[in-house]
Amino acid sequence: MKDFVRFPAKRLRKKHLISKKHEKRISKIYYSSVGIYPDGGAHRPDDHKLHDTMRAITMIILHCSATRAGQCYTLEQCRRDHIRSGMQDIGYHYYVTRDGTVHTGRALSQAGAHCRGHNKYSIGVCYEGGLDAMGEAADTRTGAQRKSLRTLLTRLHEQFPDAIILGHRDLSPDTDGNGRITPNEWLKQCPCFDALLDYEDLEPAGLFG
Ligand SMILES: [Zn+2]
Repeated sequence: MKDFVRFPAKRLRKKHLISKKHEKRISKIYYSSVGIYPDGGAHRPDDHKLHDTMRAITMIILHCSATRAGQCYTLEQCRRDHIRSGMQDIGYHYYVTRDGTVHTGRALSQAGAHCRGHNKYSIGVCYEGGLDAMGEAADTRTGAQRKSLRTLLTRLHEQFPDAIILGHRDLSPDTDGNGRITPNEWLKQCPCFDALLDYEDLEPAGLFG
């Protein structure tokens, strides 16, 4: 959360290395995540509580499994690898395989382990894929995956209407401190597509001004 909190929103309006539209989106995400939304704080994390036992959810973070085209990486393999790396269970709440099946991972009431610094208030959704046959980052979502992801995200949006849907890479630290998260700062390409753009219609009301 640290880098994100320090995100200098003021500078977002200065020089552009990214498009104005993207800059605006990232700025709104910043405001929302730190609870100082320009509307005077109506979007504080506490407002996202469904009920007492549910966590407050401010973000739905999309990931890819970084699996090459044509290769298989099942829910069980993902869970096994996460456990081997020291986690208690699979780090994601949902895992969508190439055939479009939506597998459930962790319970929504439990914090995931998928995006350092942002797990407490987020839901992690991962799709199988993300690399082309050569191992380069690519949007490899199959038609079935696209359909399932949209259905899943629509449902989550209904449940958590104020949660921002974005990609893992959109939360990379602003390493050069220029107020913008540019592609050269992406720690990973994950999820290898522009989630903010793809699910623009499922973002919180007013997010894009
Ligand atoms: Zn990721």
